[in-house]
Amino acid sequence: MALVGIVGWRGMVGSVLMQRMQAENDFALFEPLFFSTSNAGGAAPAQARNETKLVDAHDLKALARCDIVLTAQGGDYTHAVFPQLRAAGWKGHWIDAASALRMQDDAVIILDPVNLPVIKNALARGGRNWIGGNCTVSCMLMGVGALFKAGLVEWMSTMTYQAASGGGAQHMREMLVQYGALNAAVKPLLDDPASAILEIDRRVLARQQAMGGAEVAHFGVPLGGSLIPWIDKDLGEGRAQTDALWGVSREEWKGMAETNKILGRGEGFGSAPVPVDGLCVRVGSMRCHSQALHFKLTRDVPLADIEAMIAADNEWVRVVPNHKDETLRELTPVAVTGTLGIPVGRIRKLAMGPQHLAAFTIGDQLLWGAAEPLRRMLRLLLEA
Ligand code: NAP
Repeated sequence: MALVGIVGWRGMVGSVLMQRMQAENDFALFEPLFFSTSNAGGAAPAQARNETKLVDAHDLKALARCDIVLTAQGGDYTHAVFPQLRAAGWKGHWIDAASALRMQDDAVIILDPVNLPVIKNALARGGRNWIGGNCTVSCMLMGVGALFKAGLVEWMSTMTYQAASGGGAQHMREMLVQYGALNAAVKPLLDDPASAILEIDRRVLARQQAMGGAEVAHFGVPLGGSLIPWIDKDLGEGRAQTDALWGVSREEWKGMAETNKILGRGEGFGSAPVPVDGLCVRVGSMRCHSQALHFKLTRDVPLADIEAMIAADNEWVRVVPNHKDETLRELTPVAVTGTLGIPVGRIRKLAMGPQHLAAFTIGDQLLWGAAEPLRRMLRLLLEA
């Protein structure tokens, strides 16, 4: 039975991954070895069988015992451990949720309902590095991948609305603490139906503006009752304003780079990449990344055909009719969280012309955007 090292199992992605693996009975297929960066020697989770103690996640010898390492620990960990492990001659499979290795030539971005042929091709050529895609990109492709596959996308702009949980467990806690503090600041006024709304508004704003220290340690500024139109690093630092990367966040850059790599297009595949760009925004939702898409189509296609194409692409995508009732009921983070379903709604032609198409899609970024492609890749390897 294969020995599979699991790192990062108690984080945000890791917890969802454990839940899904348990639900799909994945643990029956291998012997798990649980690692920790903070609690080596502690008790491993209940899924452990023979190896019941947590092992130091920086112990290269212990990692090298594994046939497969599956990590959701984060990019710093990957940078610290992966090169050393390979340099020591380890030939196992590395499955990773972090972006650290994604754009390396020998890494495949895994999203098998969209790019199984790319994965199989790499497996046949001896590929050993399998990296989950950016959560927003993976959820988007699960929803509207059909349009790319049909060659219908001349370019796509995506404006995102990304949940607090995209930052990890600590970020979610921080946002909830902020919401709690805002509520506490106006609780007596809320309890009094006669209180003045402008006074409530003033006190909430004052409380938000007074937040500092531990209250904003992870996001830097309040997210509760606000939004942050910048996610991840500034790739433009030190560049001229005329440089293509000036003013671009790393999250935004991933949109085009990863979409094309997943589809097997662009640099390295001998074809022109499809331009994908837009602004990525953190909003105060708990889970799910939502995105407003604007496509320039390569030709005018009737809406009914577009809807049929999207709906037929995979078993998880579903078209939400572009009406108010269905949208409110089915196309919100609250409706989608915790499900593998990928709704695509608000599908209509835009005023710019018949080749301009709008769509709005939502995915639980911890499921299709993170945990699900990892556990499915593990299965592909175990069943190969
Ligand atoms: P996370 O919740 O911060 O967890 C990462 C690690 O932090 C855990 O494995 C744990 O390691 C440690 N940790 C410290 N304090 C913790 C606490 N209070 N609760 C739980 N864990 C705590 O990060 P994540 O969001 O899962 O992200 C992991 C990787 O997946 C990152 O590379 C991220 O970019 C990527 N990713 C995230 C998402 C997302 O939506 N969050 C989506 C796609 C990809 P120890 O047990 O060793 O201490």
